[in-house]
Amino acid sequence: MPAHDVLIIGAGLAGQRAALAAAEAGATVAIMSKVHPVRSHSNAAAGGINAALNPDDSWESHAFDTVKGSDYLGDQDAIEIMCREAPGEVLWLEHRGVTFHRNLEGKLGTRAFGGASAARTYYVADITGQALLHVLYEQLMKFHERIDRYEEWFVTALVQDDDGNCCGAVARDIRDGTMELFAAKSTIQASGGAGQCFKPTTNALICTGDGIAQSFRIGAPLMDMEMIQYHPTTLAGNGILITEGARGEGAHLYNAQGERFMEKYAPNKMELASRDVVSRSEQTEINEGRGFPDGTVALDITKVPRKRTLEALREIVNIGRDFAGVDITREPIRIRPGCHYIMGGVKTDVWGETDIPGLYAAGEVACVSVHGGNRLGANSLLDTLIFGRRSGEHAARRAAGMTMPAASEAALADERRMVAEIMGRSGGGRRISEIKDELGTMMNEKCAVFRTHEGLSEAHATIRRLKEEASVAAIDDRGTVFNQDVLGAIELGYMLDVAECIVVGAIERRESRGAQFRLDFPERNDGEWLKHINLSVNGGGAPKISYSPVTMTQWEPQERTY
Ligand SMILES: Cc1cc2nc3c(=O)[nH]c(=O)nc-3n(C[C@H](O)[C@H](O)[C@H](O)COP(=O)(O)OP(=O)(O)OC[C@H]3O[C@@H](n4cnc5c(N)ncnc54)[C@H](O)[C@@H]3O)c2cc1C
Repeated sequence: MPAHDVLIIGAGLAGQRAALAAAEAGATVAIMSKVHPVRSHSNAAAGGINAALNPDDSWESHAFDTVKGSDYLGDQDAIEIMCREAPGEVLWLEHRGVTFHRNLEGKLGTRAFGGASAARTYYVADITGQALLHVLYEQLMKFHERIDRYEEWFVTALVQDDDGNCCGAVARDIRDGTMELFAAKSTIQASGGAGQCFKPTTNALICTGDGIAQSFRIGAPLMDMEMIQYHPTTLAGNGILITEGARGEGAHLYNAQGERFMEKYAPNKMELASRDVVSRSEQTEINEGRGFPDGTVALDITKVPRKRTLEALREIVNIGRDFAGVDITREPIRIRPGCHYIMGGVKTDVWGETDIPGLYAAGEVACVSVHGGNRLGANSLLDTLIFGRRSGEHAARRAAGMTMPAASEAALADERRMVAEIMGRSGGGRRISEIKDELGTMMNEKCAVFRTHEGLSEAHATIRRLKEEASVAAIDDRGTVFNQDVLGAIELGYMLDVAECIVVGAIERRESRGAQFRLDFPERNDGEWLKHINLSVNGGGAPKISYSPVTMTQWEPQERTY
């Protein structure tokens, strides 16, 4: 049985940063990913990473913007840590070889992002995530003697010992179907987000909430699950993202009547208000009949000098041409709000520790909570790196003081049985892809920018039905080599668990805050709801609800205007 001090599930930015920190601290590490590491979803990150690095900026200003952006639901101790450590992290990346954009003076250049009171987003054109991921992967090679890479391995479940400590995971080698038990003193979930619960979404096909569901299933509470970010600028139909970097560079939003409508909703920040505010404004224009017939408004990037667009936004020039047939340097492109990011996730402290001893979480899978009700653009890459590193360091420290726990082979037998049961299903049920489509389309209708009790209750009933249908849905491929069919069936189970938690949290929060706007409770209600909603596994029933306080350090809630 492979055994390591630290097992990391996920090789995006959070996982790779955790692996480097744990290895530097002297631990033996296994890092595992269901796709090749540099195909992790962090690769898609475009616009940049925030840090108050300029002498005329301050971490306090970055922290306040983040607290305000979160609609005061973010935990201020965690936000302070993230913003204080951000400049050092960006410099660390640069020293490792990330070719951040430099201005004409040769200094690191910034662009403005939404909800920020200073231009503090550092970037590599509009391929920032890709640039970071490749540099971290190079660094992993340097530690090859201490870091074992399990590429294209799919974790199916976390494993606990008799005392409830997490002591590893079971995984399937996608190449040949072999299943293995991996023992570990510390296990870090860094398995990313869950955007595929919605259709369309900006998220890749691999973002199926695996780690959120796996942690939930062994008893780790989830937090802020109702907070789903709808990004203001996604293409209709396919959901592909047009980076906020476009508005950061000066693009404007117009309705079908040619009005620059953000003047009404956020007269000071305009297009660079926080994402929840811009998405709600767009959706209001569309719902009130001032959008285009295809349910969109227009993003006019021709306001940005063409030379600058071709230099700094070259990926979205390609996306506009290839996916919308539009030359964004010469004409506006139609966009609308689309599912983009999950602020909630596995509840952790500021060292990534969950409520299950030995289990950590970092990155989009986790909820520290630094994003609260609404994440500011370019704060997620930062979150993955800061809390990935901290989790790696802490997990290594924990491992240094203990012997290898006894991971029971029974867990492996259970997972083999689970796969055999899926493979053995006789045909007749609905197809996995059909159930997934119904889930995503329904979530995008009932659990999007505007929500109501009625719509959310219908969503919950649909999810319960889909769970029944998924439990008997047959697959076609019964082979062992690259069997994506069986993985699809397992992922569907994760997505349904995650979707149920999102909907139950959204029903419970009877107020409007951040990304959660309830038409039946349109006001923020600090008296009753300035608290986190936590969800825990409850047998096969709907998740159990509890609450935890929001940590305040120096910023009292205020009215939020932009
Ligand atoms: C289009 C787009 C653009 C974005 N742009 C920005 C930006 O400019 N700035 C910013 O701050 N944020 C941005 N974000 C958000 C940010 O990219 C993500 O939140 C962040 O990269 C998530 O990183 P992660 O390491 O947590 O997860 P990921 O990068 O998603 O990595 C997850 C890892 O887990 C592995 N995994 C998952 N399940 C399993 C399993 N069952 N078994 C084994 N391995 C598994 C995957 O293979 C992968 O290696 C953007 C998001 C999108 C969708």
